[in-house]
Amino acid sequence: MSQTTSREVRLAARPVGWPVESDFELVETPLSEPGEGEVLVRNVYMSVDPYMRGRMVDRRSYVPPFQLGEALAGGAVGQVLASRHPGFTEGDCVSGMQGWRECFSAPGANLRKIDPQPAPLSYHLGVLGMPGLTAYVGLHDIGKPKAGETVFVSAATGAVGSVVGQLARIRGCRTVGSAGSDTKVKVLLEELGFDAAFNYRTADLDEALAQACPDGIDVYFDNVGGDQLDAALDRMNPFGRIAACGMISTYNAETPPPGPRNLIYLVGKRITMQGFIVADHFDRLPAFLADMTRWLGEGRITVKETVVEGIENAVGAFLGMLRGENLGKMLVKLGPDPG
Ligand code: NDP
Repeated sequence: MSQTTSREVRLAARPVGWPVESDFELVETPLSEPGEGEVLVRNVYMSVDPYMRGRMVDRRSYVPPFQLGEALAGGAVGQVLASRHPGFTEGDCVSGMQGWRECFSAPGANLRKIDPQPAPLSYHLGVLGMPGLTAYVGLHDIGKPKAGETVFVSAATGAVGSVVGQLARIRGCRTVGSAGSDTKVKVLLEELGFDAAFNYRTADLDEALAQACPDGIDVYFDNVGGDQLDAALDRMNPFGRIAACGMISTYNAETPPPGPRNLIYLVGKRITMQGFIVADHFDRLPAFLADMTRWLGEGRITVKETVVEGIENAVGAFLGMLRGENLGKMLVKLGPDPG
């Protein structure tokens, strides 16, 4: 084994409010040889995701909290350097949950072999990975859009949102997105095929939604919660559906934010609002991969990525993603792509 150490990012302190660099530490650790049934992997890309902010808090949730002094974890794709598992050989590309580190040995059972062709390896953390599946399940299975309906998605240039809008368009819906800058709005309109878009930081939300959704909203794919959920509830059509995917506007709040003032509309408008977690829907992975691979091949999905280089910049990438500095999927490149 030529590589004997690996760098990893550990949680040094539990963030209060917005996380800061000093809540994390970069540590060099010895790399163990793969044991029986294990595989040694070099990560090529790792993902930074909003849900990781929740795991930094010590509370019961659908996924256990990160532990102080231990390496963080998250989606990553890489290449096998050595294998003592019959299912993997040196050079294989794999996907797993051992991000936030450069190299690792882990049981082969925890890894999934992925095909690095025809799509770039990084797509397996975005459009062909967890965010893509989230968009697919949340829109199709929870939102249930019909052709001709209006679908509104917030954080629309992000990893999940950018796919939601494009899937809704494939379904024949009117697609409306919100994002946090005029540049992002331009991308939605000119590159991602949205019918209407607005900057939620500068727009009057009620006016913007009235203009963008003249026939009301049939499906709201909610990535942010807060004011945009309020405004969407006002504009929802009777029998509309809200796919509650995430509420990133609240993740760094130090006190519980007030709930929507107009939840009563769920009653009068007979709206269905359903939260979901993508991990409950892995049975949809084969159908999703088949559809998404086909749409990518047909050029019907445009992929956006923001790539930061080096594990020493991983925390900065995570904080930047929370601030909205990403266009599409935020990734950290940890090493060269497989040759
Ligand atoms: P994104 O790629 O969309 O990155 C996060 C984006 O959130 C930022 O780029 C920023 O864009 C936006 N944002 C940050 N703060 C605010 C705010 N206060 N108000 C509005 N927008 C804000 O991340 P993902 O696509 O990975 O995740 C999107 C959402 O989906 C998150 O809520 C996440 O928790 C959720 N999620 C849920 C899953 C599930 O299983 N339910 C699985 C995966 C993700 P901008 O510049 O536009 O503000």
